[in-house]
Amino acid sequence: MRAEFVHRSPSRTVHFGHHLTARVAQLLDEHRYRRTYVIASPRLERVAEDAAQALGTRCAGGQSDAEMHVPAATVAQTLERFDASGADSVLAIGGGSPIGLAKAIALERNVPIAAVPTTYAGSEMTAIWGITREGVKRTGRDESVRPSTVVYDVELTADMPLVLTLTSGYNAIAHAMEALYAPDSTPLTNVQAEEGVRRVYRAVTTLVTGDESGHAEARTDALIGAWFCGAVLGATTMSLHHKLCHVLGGTFDLPHAATHAVLLPYVLAFNAPAAGDMSAALRRTTGAEDPAQALRDLTMKAGAPTSLRELHMPRTGVGPAVEQACAAPYDNPRDVNPEALHDLLDRAWRGAPQ
Ligand code: NAD
Repeated sequence: MRAEFVHRSPSRTVHFGHHLTARVAQLLDEHRYRRTYVIASPRLERVAEDAAQALGTRCAGGQSDAEMHVPAATVAQTLERFDASGADSVLAIGGGSPIGLAKAIALERNVPIAAVPTTYAGSEMTAIWGITREGVKRTGRDESVRPSTVVYDVELTADMPLVLTLTSGYNAIAHAMEALYAPDSTPLTNVQAEEGVRRVYRAVTTLVTGDESGHAEARTDALIGAWFCGAVLGATTMSLHHKLCHVLGGTFDLPHAATHAVLLPYVLAFNAPAAGDMSAALRRTTGAEDPAQALRDLTMKAGAPTSLRELHMPRTGVGPAVEQACAAPYDNPRDVNPEALHDLLDRAWRGAPQ
């Protein structure tokens, strides 16, 4: 076997455990954060207040209004508040939205980020930023936005609603699926991706179909799996699936995790014939002969959306989305042409079999 690859490992610290948010001040001390600005999701306001209290005078202020897709106007307002606070670092608590806003601040001010992720989206492990202006989401990679400290606190995910658990879990699985056929995958990312899918799929299955006795362990499993999936998102180049989610999310303001969950079986089925290793890994990790169908069956059991129509995307948007997705070339194991993409998106819009 002839192997040739480059594997980069950016330095960062990952803390994993229970009730860690209470110890956040001590953890940030270790990393020499002196004055920290706290950004959270509206639903995580109480946790943000607890963290601010724990930080005491080292808390420079904060806000709990992070929105999805990081609107440019919000970034401008947050930069003003951040500058006025005299902070030298940011603490983001919540899903990809507050972490995304913290990244937008870091991009402008070159300050370190500590992230306390409460979903399985994986942004905490990447150097990818995104900002939406006039319906167009611009993204890029910059090492200055990769959180230097990540605190995974299982307790913060304990009450995650079932539908968010499934859709956010599938967001993580989608990272791993595309990492498995990425042009820059390495032996290490392949192992992480496969183990990430195994853990997230097993955990979501338990949380959707199992009795409560297995839930605590499943939450731990899911968060470790999400870490692995986020790590491969940050280490490899994504393909068709992420391109489509990016186009649909930015153009039609669709919910991020639910868009990933709807599209995942369709892109998996589309790419499977050209991505044998990925298909084999997903068969092993799901234990199903047809992983796309298994994923879809679990979505239905969780009562999560299975079509773009349910996410309120207009059907007339399929054509423009295909145009946008085909406008710039990107890597994908199977050739993508406008007709095939139109067919895929139209079926996903209707929720037809993948
Ligand atoms: P989100 O952060 O918007 O959270 C979704 C909803 O879930 C919010 O209402 C939030 O308050 C709530 N929530 C969060 N954690 C919860 C919990 N534990 N229990 C109950 N409710 C909870 O959504 P997301 O899917 O985590 O992130 C989406 C955003 O992140 C998008 O803008 C996406 O583009 C971005 N993202 C970026 C990257 C990257 O690498 N740059 C990776 C993944 C996602």
